[in-house]
Parts: sequence; structure tokens; C-alpha cells
Amino acid sequence: MPVYQSSAFAFGSAEALAEAMAGPEGDCAYSRRGNPTVRTLERQVAELEGGRAALAAASGMGAISAVLLALLRPGDHVVAQRCLYGGTHAQLADLAERFGVEVERVEGGDVAAVRAALRPGRTRLLLLETIANPTCEVPDLPVLLAAARAAGAVSVVDNSLASPMLCRPIEHGADVVVHSTTKYLGGHSDVLGGAAVFADEELYATVWGRAVELGAAADPFAAWLTLRGIQTLPLRMRQHCANAELTAGRLAAHPRVRGVFWPGLPGHPSGAVAARVLDGGGGMLAFEPAGGRDAGREFVERVRVARLALSIGGVETLVTHPASTSHRELDDAELAAAGISAGLVRMAVGIEHPEDLWKDIEQALEGF
Ligand SMILES: *Cc1c(COP(=O)(O)O)cnc(C)c1O
Repeated sequence: MPVYQSSAFAFGSAEALAEAMAGPEGDCAYSRRGNPTVRTLERQVAELEGGRAALAAASGMGAISAVLLALLRPGDHVVAQRCLYGGTHAQLADLAERFGVEVERVEGGDVAAVRAALRPGRTRLLLLETIANPTCEVPDLPVLLAAARAAGAVSVVDNSLASPMLCRPIEHGADVVVHSTTKYLGGHSDVLGGAAVFADEELYATVWGRAVELGAAADPFAAWLTLRGIQTLPLRMRQHCANAELTAGRLAAHPRVRGVFWPGLPGHPSGAVAARVLDGGGGMLAFEPAGGRDAGREFVERVRVARLALSIGGVETLVTHPASTSHRELDDAELAAAGISAGLVRMAVGIEHPEDLWKDIEQALEGF
């Protein structure tokens, strides 16, 4: 697919241009409304997720914000998983404070709590993530999405960390799937992007109109890079999962490691659900080096093959220490409530040779 690096497209007649502007299906007239390269990406992501239509956005937060702003009105009731991506959490808090949206936060792994929070005829939206970050909690999508439908709520699932290779939430009953394509779909840490996929064309048309107003459209070159990334998605995902499995298993047996979190590891609290919902454990794991907060911070500074950087889903292994970065505003008690210990290290496992990665981890664990 070539890059259509154009903001506007020329027409031969005023009537044809007017027709193009009628809705999301018309010819491309202006790239905030539609662009051929971006539309190819939208079709591919919709197909991968088993949806009817998709819209691409400038970032994952662009897609998530477009969906939330399009679907929510003041006073609406939202049920959201407690452990959500930080940007989504902040967006919901903002909608609650400035627009009076009532947000109820529940443990995604607690089916009874989610069911109890859904109010039939009142709840507008249920918001979940396929794999929560960094605890790797996997909510029981088939059960929870059916409960949302029964309550008349629209369900939105952030599938960024599983990718459609491991889970297709629409097959389990989701109405909307959102993605940070920055992560596994792009896959090379060189492009920001987002997407929202819809099971239903009506919902798509509603959100598309609001997204055009919001102006979070994907750039054609960013869309082209993402299309390039998607071509190797199955190969990369297989290697991410294999490397994460080997690394998680060895970490679990290491004398200087306390706990390891990875959905495919025996004994993970979400293990049984993950086995039903995911076609693989994914590339993200978390672990706790013996020695608490300082050990976690020192580990991420000692690695040499892996690098200390935000993000997930690229070909290279990235590590972070949530207690000193993404979750630095929480004290130890609040961290514990969020399921994150002060020493926890998050590792987005890349596709390097796993032995290179393991040697690096071993040297970084020396001395704890
Ligand atoms: C990164 C991420 C986002 C935000 O995506 P951006 O592309 O950074 O805007 C949203 N959800 C999840 C699960 C993510 O990992």
C-alpha cells in the first residue's frame, strides 16, 4: 500500500465532493475524515479483530478518548476495571470530575464484583483490558461481556497487550475493541497509533463522526508504518510469547526472585481464565527481585540487553520499575492495594535471542 501523503483530494464536480462528505463510506476528501492509506489500516485491523469497521487514530489514547467522548454523556454510569492503563484511568477521572460521569471501579478478576456493579438500564459502559498492566490479570471476558449485554451496557475492551493474535474480544461479545497500535501491531517502537474496532456499524458511524470533530486522525505515514508492522505480527507474537515463557519459568526458579507474574505461568491467579481466553501468555511479565524497592530500581539500571524505557510490544526488551515511575505517586499501602509491590519490575519481553536476554537478567540479579 503506498503512502497517500495528502491532506486533501481533488474532485471533478461539486456533486461528487458533496457525496464524498456524506459519511464514513464516501470517497476520501480530506485526510481528517478519511485517507486511502489510513483506510487500508482500518480494514486490516477490523478484519484481524473480526469487527465490522474500525477507525484509526493518532495514538491509543486518541482512539480511547474518541470512544469515551462519543459514547458518554454527563451523569452516565461507567463500570471500569481498577487496574487500567494510566492514561485511560486519568481520562475517566477527568470525565468524572468535569462532566459528572459516575465511574465505579471494580476488580476485573472478580466476576461477582463486576456483575454487582452493572446496573441494568443505567450503566452505559463497561471498560476492561484483556491483560492488565503490570499485574497480568486477565478478566473473564465471555462471562463479563455477556453480563454487560444483559444490563444494556456497551462493552469496550482494550486489547493492546494481547493483540488479535492472542484474543479477539468481539468473538467473546465485546461491542468495541480499542488498541494502542503503538504496541504489538506497530511492533518496532517507531510509530504512535491507535484504533477502535466496532462489532456494529451503527456504533462505528456515531464514533466516527465524533472522532472527525475531535481531530485525532491517524497520519498517513504512521498508518503505513503500522501496516508494515502488522505483516510480521504472527511471527513476532510467537517469539514474544516463547521468550516470555522461557524467561518467566527461569525467573520463577531463580533464588533471588520472589514472585513472577505471567498469565501462562502455573499458579498465576488468572491462569485458568487465561487458558480459556488467550491463545498464549503474551510478551509482558512482571517479577519481584528479592530486596524490595531498591532491588527493583537497581535491576532496571543494571540491564544492558534490555533497556529502561516505557512502552511494550516492540522487538526489543524494555523494563520499568512502576513504583518509581508510572506509579510513583502511590505509597506502599496504595501500591499493595493496586497489586503492585514496591520492588516489582515490569518486563516487556522482546524477540531477541532468549539466551542473550537471560544472561543479561542473570548479571543484573547478581548481588540481590
Ligand atoms: C500504551 C497503551 C495505551 C495508550 O496508547 P498510546 O499509543 O501511548 O496513546 C492504552 N492502553 C494500553 C493497554 C496501553 O498499553
